[in-house]
Amino acid sequence: MTSFFILSSDIFRKMEFAKPGDLVLSSEVYSHIVNGKVRSEVCDHCLIRPGIYSEIQPVSILRRCSSCQIVYFCSRECQKSSWKEHKVECAYLKKISPRIPPDTVRLMIRVLLKLDKGGMHGETLPDGTLRRFSDLLTHETEILKCPKRSEAFQHFLQLVEICFSKEKFQPTLVFQVYCKILINSVDITDDMQESVGTGLYLALSAVDHSCKPNVNAIFNGRTVELKALEPIPAPWFDNCRISYLAPVLPRDERRKVLQDQYYFKCECSYCSADTPRIEPSLLCPNCDTTILLSSETCDKCRITLTLDRIKDYYSWSDQAQQLLAQNASDSEIFEVFLSGAKLCGTNDSVMLKVSEETWKRALNLGDMDLCVEGLKQMLPLQRLYYPENSILLWNSLALLSKALFSLERVEEGRTYFAEALSILKLSYGEEHNLHKYMLSYVL
Ligand SMILES: [Zn+2]
Ligand SMILES: [Zn+2]
Ligand SMILES: [Zn+2]
Ligand SMILES: [Zn+2]
Repeated sequence: MTSFFILSSDIFRKMEFAKPGDLVLSSEVYSHIVNGKVRSEVCDHCLIRPGIYSEIQPVSILRRCSSCQIVYFCSRECQKSSWKEHKVECAYLKKISPRIPPDTVRLMIRVLLKLDKGGMHGETLPDGTLRRFSDLLTHETEILKCPKRSEAFQHFLQLVEICFSKEKFQPTLVFQVYCKILINSVDITDDMQESVGTGLYLALSAVDHSCKPNVNAIFNGRTVELKALEPIPAPWFDNCRISYLAPVLPRDERRKVLQDQYYFKCECSYCSADTPRIEPSLLCPNCDTTILLSSETCDKCRITLTLDRIKDYYSWSDQAQQLLAQNASDSEIFEVFLSGAKLCGTNDSVMLKVSEETWKRALNLGDMDLCVEGLKQMLPLQRLYYPENSILLWNSLALLSKALFSLERVEEGRTYFAEALSILKLSYGEEHNLHKYMLSYVL
């Protein structure tokens, strides 16, 4: 009788769906590196970045390791906890000072030192299997065939040999570590979704990619958590998908990046159906509906694009791409943004890039009106592309609401705020600092 009940509840559990917001996976960092650019702002051990909450709490100053003067810690506890790992690193960094190896090399060395000490402990996956460092994919053959990647490796190997004696690490092992980092490492982001480092997570590396992910990856200190974005059928872990690519990209560009960097052809639902279509698009001069250049006719009012308008688009698009590539001045970027806003439809990826560049620069200059325009221009395509409740969508909505409040456009701001807050609650919960941060600026 008992076994029947166990069995039936087991079957029942297997049929269950993860609800939006449910924790699908929690994975602890195996090895990581804080980006050189933000080294003095992020604790090397717990990976928190105190400065982002300066508006709601006093900011604790990070302390630098007095020996190597390179890594920073938020507290004595963090410094103590990391010493076991940092000790050997600290010694080699001191030895080669004032040179600092590139981030990738520092991460390679961290992994090599970990393996040197054993480093083969695994992380248990939700299905009960153990995943170890040795289980990570390497794609060694493909990486060897790529001139850029194998040349970079030769250079990195030389650097590793400068930091340690030549005999310390076998080049074949160094190469394996390099490959595993290329294929399996992820960008670690702070609560504002800004990149702070690169990390290897054993359990996370077992999760496959989809351009339309069904979980949010939330970095919480040394742990990454996957939170369901939509109902996910059991077994949740097998059915969850993360996106290896954060930006909005057209299908062919996505597939190329995934092929070149991870060596697979993406057949996700977005890629096989090519939806949403991200391609040159224009506003209908008659009704402001988006017209894909490939279809030429407005779905709503049946007007056909004139040759002149198509030519206008291409000359705008060429100019915009040139300006972006050459990192043009603020005024040139703003000008091409304003002309693009009158010309382009929502599915245009060049306009998306121009808008992103515009809001960032406008924010820097304190031009909040233009910042709002840039963010608003991006939003329709982001809504098409990112799943509902995606944390990447949260970012735009939160920024937009904050910018609108600063302009005292309260009603408008509240709409975006409410949307951002509900995404936040789903993946971070109401106890998180980010929630307090949002409540601190609402009007
Ligand atoms: Zn810390
Ligand atoms: Zn040190
Ligand atoms: Zn795809
Ligand atoms: Zn029309």
